[in-house]
Amino acid sequence: MKRRIFSLSLIWFFAIFLVIAVSHPAQKGNVDEYDVLIKNGRVLDGSLKPAFRADIAIKNDTIVKVARSIRGKAAKVINAKGLYVTPGFIDLHTHVDRGMYFPEKRACLNYLKQGTTTIIVGQCGSSAWLMFEKAEDQMKRWEEEGIGPNAALLVGHGTVRGLVLGREDREPTPEELEKMKALVKKAMDQGAYGLSTGLIYLPGTFGKTEEVIELVKVIAPYGGIYHTHTRNERDKLLDAVKEAIEISKKSGAPAHISHFKVMGKSNWGLVKQACALIEEARSSGLKITADQYPYRFSSGYPYRSLIPRSTWFGKKDTERLKALDIEAIFDHLRDSQLIELYKKVTPYIPISERHQQFLDELPRKRLVRFVGQSLISLGNFQGSENSRERMLFLERMKDPEQAKKIRQEVKEYIDNLVGPENFIVGICVERKLEGKSLKQVAAVKGKSIADTAIELELMGAKCVPLQMCEEDIEYIMKKDYVGTGSDGTAPFYGIGLTHIRSYSTFLHKIKKYALQRKSVSLPHVIRSQTSLPAKVMNWDDRGWIKEGYKADIVVLDQKNIKIKTSISNPHQYSEGVKYLLINGKVVLFEGKWNGSLPGKVLKLKKS
Ligand SMILES: [Zn+2]
Repeated sequence: MKRRIFSLSLIWFFAIFLVIAVSHPAQKGNVDEYDVLIKNGRVLDGSLKPAFRADIAIKNDTIVKVARSIRGKAAKVINAKGLYVTPGFIDLHTHVDRGMYFPEKRACLNYLKQGTTTIIVGQCGSSAWLMFEKAEDQMKRWEEEGIGPNAALLVGHGTVRGLVLGREDREPTPEELEKMKALVKKAMDQGAYGLSTGLIYLPGTFGKTEEVIELVKVIAPYGGIYHTHTRNERDKLLDAVKEAIEISKKSGAPAHISHFKVMGKSNWGLVKQACALIEEARSSGLKITADQYPYRFSSGYPYRSLIPRSTWFGKKDTERLKALDIEAIFDHLRDSQLIELYKKVTPYIPISERHQQFLDELPRKRLVRFVGQSLISLGNFQGSENSRERMLFLERMKDPEQAKKIRQEVKEYIDNLVGPENFIVGICVERKLEGKSLKQVAAVKGKSIADTAIELELMGAKCVPLQMCEEDIEYIMKKDYVGTGSDGTAPFYGIGLTHIRSYSTFLHKIKKYALQRKSVSLPHVIRSQTSLPAKVMNWDDRGWIKEGYKADIVVLDQKNIKIKTSISNPHQYSEGVKYLLINGKVVLFEGKWNGSLPGKVLKLKKS
């Protein structure tokens, strides 16, 4: 009894001591010390709540306090007065992994400038690592050398199928299916977050629903997520969405539909029925979600010919260079010669042991194709820049019968795709035409649509078809299960042409749809790129401004968001993110990158 009284009084003593210590920290000389203190910001915490005034204290990589006013010392104090403070943006769908092999692209600066702090890579059926590597190789490389944003990696169905079956259009044998399952399992064991499909791409498209179900069943017990570029984003959109739902239902894994949209003028509006299917599945208890990029045009390279390929080539198919011709040339070489040639052009150097082994084990036919494609791009010999093809095309135009047919085919192609009012001139030697629609250019030139299209094509103009409609974009955006996914890449800055989504998705969505058009509220947009993606990925430590969460934070100067990229000049960084923190480390300061690479490789732990 005595002992109990003694211990009770001891507890009281400590309790009182604790109260004093906490309420008078300064008097004891124990000022709370933080690494970073963000003061006076208007916090959008990831929920649909309006912004509230608060300070945020960060220690190490974690948000340790969110309160109206925080006193204390911090190594860095950021004054966010008048600025929004939000969780870092999570990109549910990006292809930056293809570029992130190269140290130069490791930071993904085009994404950091948009406020992106976490990316989910390995999309559309392509694994997030090189085809001859394992998940752990990429993870180790990124962990050792550092990356800009945090990254979660997916294993790609197309990659796995390609490794086992090559590009053969057939079902796998039971042994082959077992091999594919083993590759998926291996990736999951190494920390991958799920499986992606690209069911319109080679070789993913050869995979039937049952095959995908079998592979998704492998990721389900890990808590993995199935991300899908569905089989059709045009007239068969509904079948494609049904397939995704069926795969989720039969495998037991959540299904996430990538870059949800419908393309082609005659299909516009179908998204409403697609959403109804998703909502029905969700109300039956299935976890079906989607992501979206906020633009009317698609594809990493959105520029399209104004003349369909079949019309440009005409009937004399035998006169053109084909992939088989190139393969026939390479087929004259011995295996060792092919491999030596390949080693002189591959950017993946020095050749690793796994890389060498992959080459050594490639069956002859695949080796010839692989090396041929690595050295020679068929595209180099096609299009209006090719003198021979130009000459052949113009020859055909001289014949009135053929010219009439060509004009008709061009007109039909444009009408069916998007209509001349929705085909936009992106880049043209006649600069005054840039930004105009084909219809407007035809009016300026006083020519028919077909003749204008042919003229633009022959002068090498780069035009972009607006394949989605604004109504659909806004309809999808309003859904509470649709997050943001840029579908962009990490290009070499200034090199080549690319979709502007790589430079602007997140800030463009905020500026255009929340601040200007007000189609959705600002908290709704912020949620779609923070807490919702975190929920999709099953993360309970990112995507919110909350105590205990990882300090991935955007300080946004909403009045000065500048989207500089355009289809005529895509390589332009966005402005507006004044400060960016990743895992508690400042990455952008006063809008400038400080060179740090604090991103972590996020690994799914087997549950
Ligand atoms: Zn895709």
